Amino acid sequence: MSVFQTYEQNNAAYASDFDKGALPMPPAKHVAIVTCMDARVEPASQLGINLGDAHVIRNAGGRAQDAVRNLVISQRLLGTREILVFHHTDCGMQTFKTEQLRGIVKDAAPGDSAVVNAVDKFDSFLEFTDVEGSVTEDVVFLKNHPLILAETTVTGWVYDVKTGKISRVV
Ligand SMILES: [Zn+2]
Repeated sequence: MSVFQTYEQNNAAYASDFDKGALPMPPAKHVAIVTCMDARVEPASQLGINLGDAHVIRNAGGRAQDAVRNLVISQRLLGTREILVFHHTDCGMQTFKTEQLRGIVKDAAPGDSAVVNAVDKFDSFLEFTDVEGSVTEDVVFLKNHPLILAETTVTGWVYDVKTGKISRVV
């Protein structure tokens, strides 16, 4: 059985007693969380976020630079006014350099100029070495970004995948 079949069954059970269909579109807590796509990170349970409460914006590393498009929509159209940068320990972004990843992609498609051109368009895959450093960098980036509202409360956090605990960095 493929994973999608399992998920299809799970959803049938979920929808069978679903009673949240009247929730409004804007997040009730006026908050956006920028976090990593890591499979061990699940802000809803780790932070106690209920359906309809928050925008959870995910990408590799939870990098703010990748989240700006989402945050403009979140703030200007859907009323969020607080941002949590939520990175985590043992992140995959600490395991490679952009040049290495470019090499992996190119080596898998020898002589394919479309692949070379496409992967070279990424100046950086936004990897990092120090998770507290990445959190601080992203909070500063958002606080100084011209498209992020000046009155936004921006905090930075690290989630520990071994203990399940969070700690505030900034
Ligand atoms: Zn990660």
